[in-house]
Amino acid sequence: MSRITIPQTFNTKTADAVVIGGGIVGTATAFWLSKTGMKVILVEKRDGLSSLTTAASAECFRTQFTEKSMADIALASVEMFENFRDVVELTDIDIHLCQKGYLFVTDDQAQVRDLEKAIQTYQTLGIPGSELIKGKDLHDRFAFLAPDALAATFNNRDGWLSTHETTYGFAKGAKNVDFFMRTMVTGIQKDNQGICAVETDKGMISTRLVVNCAGPYAGTIGKMAGLDMPLKTVRRQKAFIRTSHPQVPVDAPFTVDLTNHSYWRPEAGGVLCAWVDPDEPESQPADELPTDWDFAAESIYRASRLNPFFETIAADLKADDVDVSAGMYVYTPDDKPVIGPCEEIKGFHLNCGYWCGVMMSPAAGKRVADIVTGKMNNKENPLRYSRFKEGDFEKGDTFLK
Ligand SMILES: Cc1cc2nc3c(=O)[nH]c(=O)nc-3n(C[C@H](O)[C@H](O)[C@H](O)COP(=O)(O)OP(=O)(O)OC[C@H]3O[C@@H](n4cnc5c(N)ncnc54)[C@H](O)[C@@H]3O)c2cc1C
Repeated sequence: MSRITIPQTFNTKTADAVVIGGGIVGTATAFWLSKTGMKVILVEKRDGLSSLTTAASAECFRTQFTEKSMADIALASVEMFENFRDVVELTDIDIHLCQKGYLFVTDDQAQVRDLEKAIQTYQTLGIPGSELIKGKDLHDRFAFLAPDALAATFNNRDGWLSTHETTYGFAKGAKNVDFFMRTMVTGIQKDNQGICAVETDKGMISTRLVVNCAGPYAGTIGKMAGLDMPLKTVRRQKAFIRTSHPQVPVDAPFTVDLTNHSYWRPEAGGVLCAWVDPDEPESQPADELPTDWDFAAESIYRASRLNPFFETIAADLKADDVDVSAGMYVYTPDDKPVIGPCEEIKGFHLNCGYWCGVMMSPAAGKRVADIVTGKMNNKENPLRYSRFKEGDFEKGDTFLK
């Protein structure tokens, strides 16, 4: 049985593993560790699970990755989302899986070659169902696109879900986990055998295994253990636009304009719309992030280029119909997460460095457990932390990250 509680201050507790961070990544990690028979404590400084970056996300997942190391985790995760009730062994969980696809669109002839190359890569990597759609076929299937749209890659297995239900599904399915809310990690202790305890504002937890799943604060937790991790945190925003306009194609996929980095998708009661600003500077992690007064207008303007129905929505939009929120992407030197042990500090494991942590969380959490139990050799794990020191990494060309 697992429990979600707000503990009073306590004398030293003991756990086989302590997971730091109760976002979707930490909760999935605690779930998989608990399935190995470990007694796990997850510590979360906020009031509830899934309440920081995970709550700020667009909640989407995809199989379309051009790097094998990412595609393997993404594909395995989609399979787990598709079979979520079996994975967590609960019949009454509904993660609201919506597989309407991801559509990466371009109106730039030069970029069509990139799309063709991506499709070839997907095929080589064994990602089923990815299509290159061009010309008339594209407009017949996605009639909402502007006439200028030339080509797109599409995979109808991609889509979106409820991150809240998924996170709590992992928590409810976990076997022997104490989820401690409003419990802040303040330090990590080591002895000559490696990690020996986690200090929190409620008390000490004695353990030999810690997993750093602190999202934007992973660098701060790393420093507590004596590790200077190469992580960059960058604010990302999204806008929800309340509209019942009949021109909104409610069955549309998650649609990305590859030329101007904007994306949108239908959402209950309206649309989600955003753009990934390549010039957004790195900033310090924070729970409360400011949003730009013009973010929604800029996103609508950008989205309307290839999705002209946005002009109709914008024409009678009121300020009250727009909500802008922000969270942080975390980037590593190769834009891929770090999963598994940090070999310099025995017992200190990582599952962080994500710009796409929602869609990776199920299989990434499982990989942490597989390495801990020896089912997977960390040397065969392409997302191991030591790749940076070994120089065994490179940036890939996956779209929109
Ligand atoms: C606008 C936007 C859109 C996005 N869209 C998508 C998308 O469509 N698909 C996708 O896959 N990803 C998306 N992402 C990225 C995704 O949201 C993150 O990668 C993912 O949520 C990371 O999950 P996490 O559990 O690692 O982090 P978080 O959800 O941030 O969880 C980390 C937790 O650690 C806790 N914590 C930190 N420090 C401490 C401490 N000292 N003590 C105790 N607890 C601590 C925090 O309070 C937090 O709850 C998006 C992000 C943004 C901002």
